[in-house]
Amino acid sequence: MRPELMEYDLDWLFAATFGVAKKLDKATPKEIAALMRYTPYVSGLLKPLLETGKPAITYLDLFSEYYTNIVQARENGKKVVMTTFCFDPVIFYAVDNLVPVTLEIGTALTSLLWKRGSHDFMDFCTEIGFSETGCSSQRGAMGGYLSGAGARIDLIALNMGGVCDTNANAYSFAAQYLDVPFYGLDYPSELTTEEVREYHHKDYRALIRFIEENTGCRFDIDRLRELLEEKKKQDALMDELEEMQRLVPNPVPGIYHIMVYAARFIYSGRKKFTKMLEEMVAIVSKNAAEGRSGLKSGKERSRAFLFYIDHYALSLGMFEWFEAQGISHLGNILSRSFAESSTYATGVPGTTYRIDTSDLDSMIDSLADINARMPMTRTIRGPYDAPHMWLDDTLSLAGIYKADACIYNGTPGCRNTWSNVKLMMRDLEDHGYPTHLAYSDSFDARVESWETTAMRLDEFYKIRGLL
Ligand code: SF4
Repeated sequence: MRPELMEYDLDWLFAATFGVAKKLDKATPKEIAALMRYTPYVSGLLKPLLETGKPAITYLDLFSEYYTNIVQARENGKKVVMTTFCFDPVIFYAVDNLVPVTLEIGTALTSLLWKRGSHDFMDFCTEIGFSETGCSSQRGAMGGYLSGAGARIDLIALNMGGVCDTNANAYSFAAQYLDVPFYGLDYPSELTTEEVREYHHKDYRALIRFIEENTGCRFDIDRLRELLEEKKKQDALMDELEEMQRLVPNPVPGIYHIMVYAARFIYSGRKKFTKMLEEMVAIVSKNAAEGRSGLKSGKERSRAFLFYIDHYALSLGMFEWFEAQGISHLGNILSRSFAESSTYATGVPGTTYRIDTSDLDSMIDSLADINARMPMTRTIRGPYDAPHMWLDDTLSLAGIYKADACIYNGTPGCRNTWSNVKLMMRDLEDHGYPTHLAYSDSFDARVESWETTAMRLDEFYKIRGLL
């Protein structure tokens, strides 16, 4: 690892950046413009974020608190658990001595905040023996923690076994390298049968035993109930945003999607996430009442559904490109909750989750069901065209939000999607959706520059007559 990257603690860098940025709520536009001149590296993220107003400040506050808790974990007598974005963190917050670190969030932030991206951290993983063809979303931040640039990890818990081999292997590699305890929930390729449901519930109880044994802590039932009740509110607010997104023009600013899913992956069940969602709903409701688009120009020319993930390498260029073209970003598979109230779920019994806080058993079952329905654990666990999998979900979402086009953007390390994405394209085209396949890596700008990705998007929109 380059010594320059070991100079500052990675989590402290995040905590300090967000801690300063959240104080901008009282800054004048002139002061913000002056700040951007002095912070060219972080302005690619901060500028579009701050333009969203109140929710941006809550978002920055939430991230500042999250990383400060990681930085202070050891001195506060807490253990740090490494986990993945597809794992709902409520269970970790139900004990008072555990702090989660979510790798993919760290990778995206490192890519968004600094011009050097997370390339050095990705390369460090390869230097110590991890596969360079794995998903870049883990490798970025993982290199930071394995090299000692970030917090010391005490245990690892995740839920991608059976769904995503590259994700599960990345965490298993980290556990061996760091010599820390590891638990991975496993998922059968089916989702809805009673047998699978029972398996999920048993597996989740074994995870709880693992956490108790390796942290010496017990779950606080009242706190768990409180977190899940808060999560219910969050799901309802997310449903409201999603419902308003059905309007034409779409009143939801595209950047809200990344804010919603990033905050949810680290702060599910926490009150600051609820606050951000309430602020968003207020703004979007006003846009909707006035018939305004969520685009800064106020003029919607086209609507795009990103049927995988977004682009985070070295700026929020993708969101700004959509803004400049007048294209409403309709979210991606990460934005969705798959709570039973979500209107876009395919309607097949068992494909969504219900939060039941009546007793400890019902809460644990609810958490197991939620985890089995996180974006990737639900949507790409089985064959892409099996019932209620990737194709069904995409058609349901693209249809409900009246998408004019579907766009794939992901990482070349994602065998789950690259193995069948051309078949997806064919099927989506057959259903009448012009579909574009980006060759970029969402987290690694060395694969394809954002400028090249944007040029190919331009070409697609022009040739297909979508603008
Ligand atoms: S993007 Fe693909 S490879 Fe990466 S975690 Fe998701 S499913 Fe796995």
